[in-house]
Amino acid sequence: MNSHTTVNGEVRVRMAPSPTGFLHIGGARTALFNWLFAKHHHGKFILRIDDTDIERSTDESMHEIYEAMQWLGLDWDEGGEKGGPYGPYLQSERKEVYDRYVGELLASNHAYHCYCTSEELEEIRTEAREAKSTRSYDGRCKELSSEVIEKYIADGRKPTVRIKMPETSILVDDLILGSRNIDPATLEDEVIVRSNGMPNYNLTSIIDDVEMNITHVIRGTEHLNNTPKQIAIANALGLSLPQFAHIPLVLDDSGRKLSKRHHGDLVAVNRYREQGYLPEAMLNFVARLGWSYDDKQEIFSLEDLIDKFDLARVGKSGSVFDIKKLEWLNSHYINQLDVSRRTDAVIPYWQAEGLIDSIEDREKLEKIVEAVGERLNTLKDIVPQTSYFFSDDFEFDPKATKKWWGSSDEKKQKTYEILTNLSQILEDTPDFGLDTIESLVWKYTDENDIKRVAAMQSMRIALTGLSFGPSLFDIVVLLGKDEVLKRLQKAIVSLS
Ligand code: GLU
Repeated sequence: MNSHTTVNGEVRVRMAPSPTGFLHIGGARTALFNWLFAKHHHGKFILRIDDTDIERSTDESMHEIYEAMQWLGLDWDEGGEKGGPYGPYLQSERKEVYDRYVGELLASNHAYHCYCTSEELEEIRTEAREAKSTRSYDGRCKELSSEVIEKYIADGRKPTVRIKMPETSILVDDLILGSRNIDPATLEDEVIVRSNGMPNYNLTSIIDDVEMNITHVIRGTEHLNNTPKQIAIANALGLSLPQFAHIPLVLDDSGRKLSKRHHGDLVAVNRYREQGYLPEAMLNFVARLGWSYDDKQEIFSLEDLIDKFDLARVGKSGSVFDIKKLEWLNSHYINQLDVSRRTDAVIPYWQAEGLIDSIEDREKLEKIVEAVGERLNTLKDIVPQTSYFFSDDFEFDPKATKKWWGSSDEKKQKTYEILTNLSQILEDTPDFGLDTIESLVWKYTDENDIKRVAAMQSMRIALTGLSFGPSLFDIVVLLGKDEVLKRLQKAIVSLS
């Protein structure tokens, strides 16, 4: 790390979301990398809100972003609702700061007013396209005479402010991607203040990074083209630069950039929260999008990540969003929870589905969770896997009945007999303990030369509608004698 950019040696990084929608996977990844970098270097993590786009920014999105960050456990030291010594942290409240810098740029002749109308700009763009120019604006307002300016003003034209791009190349030194020299011919005089007086992202971003003493700007490569523009603005103002690090894009499995536009809520962090992903799993998953430790280790605790995270191990190429891997990590973290914590975690999903309202029989709920064992990929999986414990209003899965109850009359008759006999045996036993039931069922199958698996599966379908799930005898005990007999009876009737 280059120490001349740190303030008293302290690392200061930021995440700067635009509150124009939910926090997405890419945003969470940017947040996490910044957060880890700050923690690793005992620095500060700042949450700045880039809300100068007043038409598209909403309070609702801002709070959704806060909530998603809090759910992930990515707490911030300054900014957001917290405030801090460099506030305000909402760009919409910092206009005075930007106006001051714009005044300086205009006074030093590093920026100028552009009076072109949108129609004129469209024409200039078309000409530039036809001439195959790398710039879509030709800088024609740079040298306007005072008479022309007066006329434009008298005509009621509202100017934008453009920054003059330098004649010499711009060096972008990136901690991940290395150094590049950008040819100024590829850069046009960027609009830094719109005609409605609102400053644009490239201006506000670099001004705030400098004003807030940000030492490292870590953000997605989608901003790579903005960096030379921001450097040009800072250079024109004589400001010293933060270091830049651009992290590779997150791609889908066909190599397309993961985006809200193309992937909808599949990229929304909240969606995973609702589906029953644990924040630990999300963080572990997101950490590995573009960063790896040794190509082998997949499971990282947060402490481990803080300890090992390093920009040097962030790759240069895009990383693929693999939902299967996220599921696998999630099931790993769910299995790490002891039964009591796992029960706490799944209760809201049962409640949301109306399977339980109050927690009357906590012990039973824990036993159900214990019986389900390591079968949950998401917390929400608890619903389809256990709903039969709470209600007998289920269909027998037709594939399962075809396979285990049989489709021929003869086979069905056999199943009918087995279930009728088992029902009788279970009715007759005064002891409904697991061991007793198990030995009674095996005694019956073995004495009558019936395959154990056939009897078990037939009974499982009768009791749950499904051909898979927890151990059959756990289910029998948890349902209790009355319920088991009632359900067996229902199956027997449907077979007759
Ligand atoms: N508001 C920008 C975004 O959400 C921030 C980019 C940056 O980190 O500079 O993409």
